[in-house]
Amino acid sequence: MAKARTAVPAATAARVLFESDRTCCVCRKAGPVQIHHIDEYPTNHDPQNLAVLCFDCHEETQRKGGFARGLDRAQVLLYRDNWLQTVAASRSTSELDIETPVSGRNTFDAQLVTSLVEINRAVGNWVGLAFLYHAIGNVELRDEVVEQAVESDPSGSTLVRLRRLQGRIDEVPEKEIEAELDRAQGDYRMVSRLLQDLGRYREATDTLLRGLAARSDVSDFHVAFTLKRLLDSDLIEGLFVRALQEAADADDLWWQVRALQELGWTSELHALVLSHEKEIEADDDLWPSQKATLRVIAARARGDGDAAREAIKDEERIMARAQVEHKEG
Ligand SMILES: [Zn+2]
Repeated sequence: MAKARTAVPAATAARVLFESDRTCCVCRKAGPVQIHHIDEYPTNHDPQNLAVLCFDCHEETQRKGGFARGLDRAQVLLYRDNWLQTVAASRSTSELDIETPVSGRNTFDAQLVTSLVEINRAVGNWVGLAFLYHAIGNVELRDEVVEQAVESDPSGSTLVRLRRLQGRIDEVPEKEIEAELDRAQGDYRMVSRLLQDLGRYREATDTLLRGLAARSDVSDFHVAFTLKRLLDSDLIEGLFVRALQEAADADDLWWQVRALQELGWTSELHALVLSHEKEIEADDDLWPSQKATLRVIAARARGDGDAAREAIKDEERIMARAQVEHKEG
């Protein structure tokens, strides 16, 4: 008997796609991707049971036995967890906020690295070592050193900083996080960074902007540096994903569409609009201009260039009329 298939709830899908950076966790190719149910129950939409795969790797999960044994559950789980940590680590902000540059950090040569390692080893600076290994992309050595550091000091800032570096902040006990937030009070950028790593994007943004606005004594460099960090980080993407989830929970098609457009998640955008085509035409809450925009997206999703052009002209007519009416009104 075929297993009944239900769609992954949109808010869950958004989260899973974001956490995987819309990238196949096995071959690490970015989009188009699909969400795979690891236990093969297509109704178990627990995020723990979901992995983002490309179509080729998904095929591999469907092949069983023989010489061509495909990907099994245990393998997918390993790949998935490993990739999620890599994405989280790459997004970690723990290193991003030094206004004074450390010279040469971006142009490592082997000899220099060896010396820097020696310097940190000599004084038992495990944290410094972990950051060094992370910077040169040696994840295995980084994790070894982190375990050593965590063993000697299993609490406080060290634990929080190192788990952030690994993309494993979710493993830090709540009370350590709260204590770290307390310690960081007064340094709005530090608080903001930690909130961001915790996935609390809205609070992170509010903290940063309010902190900046409250201080009139800071230099132009400080303002520019802070805004640049905001733009370079995944805060904006994180906020759009949250907006997408909220719109999905509210069953609000238009704001799901807008969030997907801003995120640049084209395949998800096309799938969403195509699956709602009939409702769109019948929906009285949508303005004519919104319907026209959705028709353009649907035509593009079908690869129908002529229909897309006609829909764009419709959209233009509606917009043009609205502008003239606005002027006269
Ligand atoms: Zn793949």
